[in-house]
Amino acid sequence: KDSVQPDPVSASRNVSSPLDENVIIRAVKLNKYFGEKHVLKDIDFEVRKAEVVALIGPSGSGKSTLIRCLNALEQATSGEIYIHGEKLDPFLSVKQLSPIRRELGMVFQNFNLFPHMTVLQNVIEAPLLVRKLSKDQAVALGEQLLTKVGLFEKRDIYPSRLSGGQKQRVAIARALAMQPRALLFDEPTSALDPELVGEVLKVMKDLAYEGSTMVVVTHEMQFARDVSDRVVFMDDGSIVEQGDPEELFRKPQHRRTQAFLERVL
Ligand code: ADP
Ligand code: MG
Repeated sequence: KDSVQPDPVSASRNVSSPLDENVIIRAVKLNKYFGEKHVLKDIDFEVRKAEVVALIGPSGSGKSTLIRCLNALEQATSGEIYIHGEKLDPFLSVKQLSPIRRELGMVFQNFNLFPHMTVLQNVIEAPLLVRKLSKDQAVALGEQLLTKVGLFEKRDIYPSRLSGGQKQRVAIARALAMQPRALLFDEPTSALDPELVGEVLKVMKDLAYEGSTMVVVTHEMQFARDVSDRVVFMDDGSIVEQGDPEELFRKPQHRRTQAFLERVL
């Protein structure tokens, strides 16, 4: 039965606009309903290679839902999503989706580390299973990434013995281990004690300066202002305003953006 159907991944290439190698994420007229509730409203969103996009907005505005749709953790009700030119079609099987999903690394508010695995095992699990690296290659990669996030010496301990900031740095190393085209962060510092926020932001800042492509949902306005290339303000399921961080923070064009910034700055 499979053999008579066109491969949806390659078939979709023909109908999409010519592949622009520099567009990593493209969402077109995305809508999402939870029951009657209209949570994403005609969202057009694009992220280019090496861009750092800060996604800001009030709680409940749809930020998490947007990035969860991009990563196929949620299914949009309508609209189109392309990850590096590959269309995320609703009719793709989990197996067909998985190589596309792998293009995006996800970092969550609550770390989501595997508690029964050491720090190093957390980082090398997916490269071993999914990328089929040899044990030696995976360990070398894991150690390199743990060094990068400043946690090489924690490689053999279990997550329960780490601080929140350390856990999140492991989660970042784990996301990087899959060599994604872009990293999606959903409030990566919101669950942290204030004194631990800085060490995570520092790692993210380093990644940004190295040219990583990043979408960061954040309440850290200073980070958005200093590190991002573009700030996107969402409210009530819509992108209300977006642009250069300096300009958007200095003179927001929309009343809703102004009101939000007045509350958080
Ligand atoms: P944000 O991340 O900006 O705080 P969310 O994307 O989490 O916003 O939520 C947007 C809206 O969608 C909220 O009203 C929220 O209650 C609703 N929502 C989110 N996830 C679900 C779900 N799984 N089922 C029903 N409603 C949801
Ligand atoms: Mg959220």
